[in-house]
Amino acid sequence: MTDPRVRPSVVGQGSAILDLLMKDPEIMAEANRLLSGRTRDIWLKGKIARAYRERSWRQSAKVIRSWMIWVIILDLMMLLLNMALLPRNIAVDMLAPGVLMVPAALGVVLVWSKHRGEAILSGALAAGMMVILLSVCLFGVTAGDALLERYLNIMLFVALTGIIIFNVPFALTQGIAAVALGLYLAFLLQSPGVDVKSALSGFFFFASGVGATVVARRTMTILAQKSFLLELRDRRNMIELAESHRHLEQIAKVDALTGVANRHWMQEKLDALWQQGAPIALLMCDIDDFKALNDHLGHMEGDRCLTRVARVIEECVRSEMDCVARYGGEEFLVLLADATDAEAMTTAERIRQRVAAARMPNPGSRVSSYVTLSIGVAVSNTRSNALTAEKLQTQADTALYFAKRAGRNQVRLWDANTHTMGNSEEETYHVRRLG
Ligand code: GH3
Ligand code: MG
Ligand code: MG
Repeated sequence: MTDPRVRPSVVGQGSAILDLLMKDPEIMAEANRLLSGRTRDIWLKGKIARAYRERSWRQSAKVIRSWMIWVIILDLMMLLLNMALLPRNIAVDMLAPGVLMVPAALGVVLVWSKHRGEAILSGALAAGMMVILLSVCLFGVTAGDALLERYLNIMLFVALTGIIIFNVPFALTQGIAAVALGLYLAFLLQSPGVDVKSALSGFFFFASGVGATVVARRTMTILAQKSFLLELRDRRNMIELAESHRHLEQIAKVDALTGVANRHWMQEKLDALWQQGAPIALLMCDIDDFKALNDHLGHMEGDRCLTRVARVIEECVRSEMDCVARYGGEEFLVLLADATDAEAMTTAERIRQRVAAARMPNPGSRVSSYVTLSIGVAVSNTRSNALTAEKLQTQADTALYFAKRAGRNQVRLWDANTHTMGNSEEETYHVRRLG
């Protein structure tokens, strides 16, 4: 039978990263501080920011890789369409920037397929985006002045989709936005067909749109970071709750003084075993003249004696199968699973001898100058309908009564023929003993 003090962890399984973070008091303190403030002020920095990116990396990488594939498909479609619709020489000129975009996007896919250092990931994305956006601008240049603006708009559109869906450090988002706007302005200004005023007005128009998108991205990041913090806090609360539940469960099952099971927990074990129909032996152990020990050596010494007796009894039973409980003041009930009469008696005798051998002083005892035990044993090897778990306890208790009556410091096995008291004697005894 398992020791009630050794309980398996009830903490649920979950993300290993979260479990690791929760153990870091610095991260938890920062999470609580951020959650206690306004949502708009949530901005992760340092350790907790790295932890957030670590946690969201897989999802971000998936989005970025898909976006890169989408760009490659768009690029190839555009090249094919150009071949079909545009004059041959222009379409051929467009091949160079179009082809340039493919290794750039594939490079990003490759780098983002594995979790690497933040600098490598950010650097690869920044470089890849730069080449992709530049390629779209070069499309415009090769297509001629009439189509340049259209391609620059496409470039901005491509940049905007990236800005909005890439969950990356905010500096990188701002960098992509700045590169896109810079390319837009530079390519417009170098085009002889576009005057400066109209280039600038186009720039400011799109700059406001890109700016709004960057703000939207920041809001989305804040919300994602908040849900990360909440997840962290909830998980921590859940674990604390599980721990206090485990602690309460332990308090409810274990006797505080001796550390063995309490009477309530023993009753549960007994009932559960009884349902299974397995043979059970009960050993009701009572310290002889314990009151005298208290009177002579004091209550504290009495407590120490109870703890030592509990340890001795535990050492005499099988920790995995049997159960030792403090049944009352100086009484211990031992439950032996799957034990015959002979085995139960051997164990009981071993307990009695080991307690005597421990030579704990009991100067006021009428039996010996050391602590001794009387033990009543009852065994249920066959289940008759008339026998109940409660009756088995009464039998063990009756056997104990006879062990006491016969002079103490001895073991008695319950026997239907010899251990029958007169009705009124039995009733009085058990009402007093078992309540
Ligand atoms: P018997 O041999 O007939 O069992 O005699 P006894 O003195 O052991 O039995 P009795 O029932 O007269 O006294 C039991 C004593 O156990 C009385 C009580 O003060 C003491 N006791 C009960 N619980 C505790 C406890 O937690 N700590 C200590 N130190 N004493 C306790
Ligand atoms: Mg007693
Ligand atoms: Mg006693």
